[in-house]
Amino acid sequence: MSIRDDHADGGPGARSGGGPALTVIDAERASIAAGLPRAEAQYLLQALLGVSRAWLIGHDTDLLDAVTAERFRHWLARRLDGVPLAYLTGEKEFFGLTLRVTPDTLIPRPDTELLVQWALERLDGPRAPRVVDLGTGTGAIALSIKSQRPDADVRMVDFSPGALAVALDNAQRLGLQVDAHLGSWFEPLAGQVPFDLIVSNPPYVAGDDHHLDALKHEPRTALTPEGDGLADLRHLIEGAPAWLRADGWLLLEHGFDQADAVAAMLRARGFIEVETRRDLGGQPRATGGRWPG
Ligand code: GLN
Repeated sequence: MSIRDDHADGGPGARSGGGPALTVIDAERASIAAGLPRAEAQYLLQALLGVSRAWLIGHDTDLLDAVTAERFRHWLARRLDGVPLAYLTGEKEFFGLTLRVTPDTLIPRPDTELLVQWALERLDGPRAPRVVDLGTGTGAIALSIKSQRPDADVRMVDFSPGALAVALDNAQRLGLQVDAHLGSWFEPLAGQVPFDLIVSNPPYVAGDDHHLDALKHEPRTALTPEGDGLADLRHLIEGAPAWLRADGWLLLEHGFDQADAVAAMLRARGFIEVETRRDLGGQPRATGGRWPG
């Protein structure tokens, strides 16, 4: 006969997980000591507690409940392992929208907002313009455009079912009516009429770029087409004219050193008014042109 020891088993009465009791300021100090900037620790605490930064500062000696303290310790360890903040909290701000993000999607970057601004400028003329965002990920670009242009017919395309599910969830949460198509680039558009604007932030990092090490938690297929990084940009430039109406626009994000190559490909394909725009850091980040038809 054996006597079961609930305590040793982790059953009732056993002390589960958890370290010592933790106040808000303890949590911040522990993070700083471990090498995480205070602002990031505060961001994580804000997300866990659902409070503002001002609240945290005013309540720095408040004790975190055991579950929150444990979740904080877990997030801190994951963050120190390089997991992006947005994957821990599950959300990211983009163009004034709060988007859900998961490891199925690239985390939207502030630099990509320039593509949205540019698209909105180009859509200033036509009423009820038709727009497609190829490789939409979280839906960031498509949903930002739709939020500013409710009259636009906006479509999101992604080959990843996980990403497209996130994009659709974001559309629903934000109450934005857009269509989603599962498939690779232009493929799922078969049967659609031409567009006024095609926009894309495709994978463009070169396969051997050392920056990919720091981005290892994001889906590799969203970051790089491997090789020199230009394959998907080339595919989009080759294919776009078949899907653009006369005077329609193709706007593409690319790497800081790819503007000349992208502009040359656009011109060679017959695009006119080819122009490059710079990101917040001053790097050439997006290039586009008009299809004369
Ligand atoms: N801008 C991203 C980065 O360098 C890459 C995004 C992309 O490949 N489309 O972190």
